[in-house]
Amino acid sequence: MSEREFVIVGGGLAAGTAASTLREEGFEGHLTLIAAEAHKPYIRPPLSKAYLASYDDSELWVQPEDWWHDHDVDVRSGQHARELDLADRALVLEGGARVPFEKLLIATGATPRTLEIPGADADGIHYLRSIEDSRAIHEATAAGDKRVVVVGSGWIGMEVAATVRGFGNEVTVVSHAQVPLSSALGDELGEVFASLHLDHGVRLVRGVGVSGLRVQGGRVTGVEYDGGVVDADVVVIGIGAVPLTSLAEDAGLDASTGILVDAGMRTGADGVFAVGDAANPFHPVLGQRLRSEHWANAIGTGRTAALNMIDRGVDYDDIPYFYTDQFDLGMEFSGYAPLMKDAHVVYRGDLAGREFVSFWVAPNGAVVAGMNVNVWDVNDQVQALIRSGRPVDEARLADPDVPLGDLAADA
Ligand SMILES: Cc1cc2nc3c(=O)[nH]c(=O)nc-3n(C[C@H](O)[C@H](O)[C@H](O)COP(=O)(O)OP(=O)(O)OC[C@H]3O[C@@H](n4cnc5c(N)ncnc54)[C@H](O)[C@@H]3O)c2cc1C
Repeated sequence: MSEREFVIVGGGLAAGTAASTLREEGFEGHLTLIAAEAHKPYIRPPLSKAYLASYDDSELWVQPEDWWHDHDVDVRSGQHARELDLADRALVLEGGARVPFEKLLIATGATPRTLEIPGADADGIHYLRSIEDSRAIHEATAAGDKRVVVVGSGWIGMEVAATVRGFGNEVTVVSHAQVPLSSALGDELGEVFASLHLDHGVRLVRGVGVSGLRVQGGRVTGVEYDGGVVDADVVVIGIGAVPLTSLAEDAGLDASTGILVDAGMRTGADGVFAVGDAANPFHPVLGQRLRSEHWANAIGTGRTAALNMIDRGVDYDDIPYFYTDQFDLGMEFSGYAPLMKDAHVVYRGDLAGREFVSFWVAPNGAVVAGMNVNVWDVNDQVQALIRSGRPVDEARLADPDVPLGDLAADA
């Protein structure tokens, strides 16, 4: 190789951020981006919100269309990498073409977990990961006259339920969990989202396992669960995602729980990095691995890997962050999920009116997570409180007259 040759595999936010960072930070070598989808790198959160609602693509692209050409990035869309040949330092594409690399970034993301029951391939059944998936759900539901069943009450299920209910459809969420979003937020805060959906006319069937799908003439007509059935014209399945790790795993890298990387996004192979939903990084503040399937993590890890590909020696130690928009509720969450299970919740603001900040306070009195619901411009202070790691006065934490900035400074 005469010129430095960096290759990125993946076409999502992590891949796009890494490519952008490399160019912004002055990397002048050859940069190739191999992306299985027929698009330039794009951002997925709008797919269950603004894009699903109205094809609003204003927030969809990592960079404007011309940016890739203007910055001399060789984007090979619609190309699937099938093998990582570590001995020969090349990526092998479907069809056999070999792409040599000096450094490689794996940003292959995740794929929806599938429901393995008879009928799951019938017409009218959808998953949501790509632009095409979002368009298909939009086309199936936008008339607003359908019976839509969403299987799963995680983030994607609840967001899709809100958006398609917004078209006027009859919407039922069927879920294994008793409380929506409980695995991310716990029961107390999950109930906030349950009542939000109930108030907007979404039906919740909780604590049941889907046991079958009714299909007539190749089209889904209903979802069966232990104890009942819901009629359906359209079914959207949102039961989690599985990291796409096979390139790394088949090459002998440790990837059983996501591709294992250090805090600088380095895998066990020299010059090979992994980021985003596909990776499982070590978090230096928490002192343990922390896999995250969120927008901010794709940006932060993508940027970190790019900097380390050009030998900047940085670690990724951000506090995990994510957001959601459902009906008239917008929220941001920051915090360390593994520390939340022993914490109790302290509220500031109007819980019943869904305008509040909730704090998870650990047994030692330190704030380990915070969520602002329809309250804005406080996330930096919430993060400062968490970062301090020191005990806070709970009465002051709950008192909206005490500026959060003061608490962060006290802590
Ligand atoms: C509908 C939806 C809504 C979301 N909403 C939110 C939200 O509100 N807030 C939030 O924080 N997060 C949200 N997320 C999560 C967030 O979008 C993900 O964390 C983020 O997309 C991860 O980025 P990534 O680049 O790691 O992976 P991805 O975006 O999945 O991109 C990976 C890319 O790699 C490609 N690829 C895979 N294997 C290969 C291969 N072998 N060869 C070539 N290309 C390959 C894939 O086709 C894909 O294009 C949402 C996700 C979805 C699906």
